[in-house]
Amino acid sequence: MKGEEGAAQAGRTAESEAAAWQADGIVENEVAVRQADGAAKNEVAVGVMDGAAENEVAVGAADAAENKAKKKGGKKKGKEKKDAAQRAAARAERAKKLRRLLELAHEAVFGKNCVCAACGEDVFDDGFFCAHCLAELPLNDEYVCSKCGRAIEADYPVCLECKAHMPLYDAARSAFRYEERVVGLIKRFKTGGRYLAAALAARMAPLLADSFPDADLIVSVPMTDKALKKRGYNQAELLADALSLRSGIPYAPAALVKTRDTAAQKHLTAAERAQNLAGSFRVHERALCRGRHVVIVDDVLTTGATADAVARALRGAGAARVYVLTAASVPYRERPRTPEQALSADEKGSAPPAPPKKPAHGA
Ligand SMILES: [Zn+2]
Ligand SMILES: [Zn+2]
Repeated sequence: MKGEEGAAQAGRTAESEAAAWQADGIVENEVAVRQADGAAKNEVAVGVMDGAAENEVAVGAADAAENKAKKKGGKKKGKEKKDAAQRAAARAERAKKLRRLLELAHEAVFGKNCVCAACGEDVFDDGFFCAHCLAELPLNDEYVCSKCGRAIEADYPVCLECKAHMPLYDAARSAFRYEERVVGLIKRFKTGGRYLAAALAARMAPLLADSFPDADLIVSVPMTDKALKKRGYNQAELLADALSLRSGIPYAPAALVKTRDTAAQKHLTAAERAQNLAGSFRVHERALCRGRHVVIVDDVLTTGATADAVARALRGAGAARVYVLTAASVPYRERPRTPEQALSADEKGSAPPAPPKKPAHGA
């Protein structure tokens, strides 16, 4: 069978590659780390391989059915030509999918990250980022707003935006500050760099354990079908999946749906963002979320408007606690430093709605 051959060949390729790596000696440790990383990964790989083989079996069956139909019919030559072209296109598409599955299987066993996810340098220790990048990447580990988790400039309990507009989630946390090289990293993650999910999740997992130890369900911010088709994948799903694998907390990929496309949020004020998103998320699996401590996973938290809209839906479905975990969040920088600046910010359109009239965190 074609599929088995393909899988076997992938296995042989993987084997010879592994042999080459082991012979290399330097990367031996890396392979060992990958292997130690767990049976889970292997299982995923086997699952993917099986999936690939099954897929190809299905393809074979479909082709056989098509051939049979062709023998039966026979006369409409113009139509046949068109059909043949369509079948060729479909076959190319299936081959592409199969190739991708085998790639994923290989990645799952050996890891794609023998190079730094941020700079491309060879990595021998941490496995995802080189020591230099790890030191350079802006970790979100200094003062953060206790509510939205965005970086703030001093040890205040909450940022001005949360103070003015308390979010509906219990708390949000993020691994990186969305600035400097993390901006490019996330951009790459959203435009084809799926493999970055593992690297980002590796930095998010400790936060999940430390900040939300009672979490018992992971969900991801959904996309509409249209948006999903355009991008090809939902980056939030990839992160949620990787986090679930690492933490053992179940992930419910179909818990939420996005019911309509919403306008780009970039240039909207906080109030406009809330309005833009109102009612656009729905909990599809309500029974699953009822009474649970749910973690919403996404790539970036900007103002938290999206997280808030999803939290509203989850609360409506009876979730007992709602947390938000993102790879990165935009630091809260607009916070004026003096009461005078706070008052003058009032006149700017970008200020949060109904900003406080007294010194921001005086009390
Ligand atoms: Zn690096
Ligand atoms: Zn905040």
